[in-house]
Amino acid sequence: MKILVINAGSSSLKYQLFDMADRKVLAKGLCERIGIDGSRLKHKPLNSDEIIIDKEMKNHAQAIQIVIEALTSPEYGVISDMSEISAVGHRVVHGGEFFKSSVVIDEDVKKAIEECVSLAPLHNPPNLIGIKACEEIMPNVKQVAVFDTAFHQTMPKKAFLYALPMEMYKKHKIRKYGFHGTSHKYVAQRAADILGKPIEELKIITCHLGNGSSVTAVDGGKSVDTSMGFTPLDGIIMGTRCGTIDPAIVEFIAQKEGISLSEVNDILNKKSGVLGISGISSDFRDLENAANEGNEDAALALDMFAYSVTQYIGRYMAAMGGCDAIVFTAGIGENNSKMRKKIVKTLEFAGVKIDEEKNKIRGQEIDISTDDAKIRTLVIPTNEELMIALETEKLV
Ligand code: ADP
Repeated sequence: MKILVINAGSSSLKYQLFDMADRKVLAKGLCERIGIDGSRLKHKPLNSDEIIIDKEMKNHAQAIQIVIEALTSPEYGVISDMSEISAVGHRVVHGGEFFKSSVVIDEDVKKAIEECVSLAPLHNPPNLIGIKACEEIMPNVKQVAVFDTAFHQTMPKKAFLYALPMEMYKKHKIRKYGFHGTSHKYVAQRAADILGKPIEELKIITCHLGNGSSVTAVDGGKSVDTSMGFTPLDGIIMGTRCGTIDPAIVEFIAQKEGISLSEVNDILNKKSGVLGISGISSDFRDLENAANEGNEDAALALDMFAYSVTQYIGRYMAAMGGCDAIVFTAGIGENNSKMRKKIVKTLEFAGVKIDEEKNKIRGQEIDISTDDAKIRTLVIPTNEELMIALETEKLV
């Protein structure tokens, strides 16, 4: 079975075509500048070089059409006909409280995704456009929606409610939703596979550390708490987002700086985090270089990041009454061995101990704990696209 995975943004569209028999990616690529002058497709077939096709894409439907042409091209295609695609899996950011798992898309599903637009105004509209474009081009192919929020819908009320007047939840659905669910679910399952134990018997803390970062407590295979909240702004310190702060700071900054609430929001989302602290960069490689050259603010930003992740790990150990494994994933989690070491340094009392040599290995699934560690520490490269393909395969 061949499954096309689509991640549609406002002017971009990423895709991967999977052969589910061996879970191989036959081709992947990216449409850029959809609806803008200079649109182009970058297409990478499995066994050959990336090709670039400059072609007008007025809208997402045209972009999908061009992707299908590339996939079926006699020259650089990987399938002979569109009918070889059995299903399409779409990444959808927000499923609100409607979706606790992935679903086959019908009119009701689209309506519900539309209803979640106010919760994810930048993401859900392009996700919907991507779905409608695929329906138009491939009317007989099943479309599946896989939500970033769905995995966290198992959180209990005590974890997902904020201590605001209850009517804020009832009227406006203000609550913790959590994000990166597809990634947390994927790496938690892989961790159970690597440990050779049923996931139902494990307490796992998954740390997705990238530009956006979140930590999740996975108890028995279910998300019971996660660090991101109503929006992805909450939780640990990130590249440019502040993470959890005292909410009173918002009005205080607005008054002191004489700026609007939306301008404050912009500061919290785009100018804070390790970028804000260091004044240098949101990229951890730049910060490490600067810190090595003696920049104290860069070193402080790295310390603050590690401290905030460590605190969430401790918090979730307490929330679950124990922990069998900690998993690191995404750009920083997978590649930054120094940061991993910094994060777990003060957790030795709880039985977390990593082997310095194993911690240096990159780009593979690995248990980096010492033999005597009570809590295993794993590095597992995330694969959200494969997870979307697997969920799609399961449903069709
Ligand atoms: P996104 O949330 O945009 O998907 P990523 O998961 O790609 O982000 O993570 C981006 C972060 O990962 C950056 O801070 C970057 O420094 C770090 N990172 C990515 N690759 C490497 C690498 N090879 N070595 C060290 N850090 C890396």
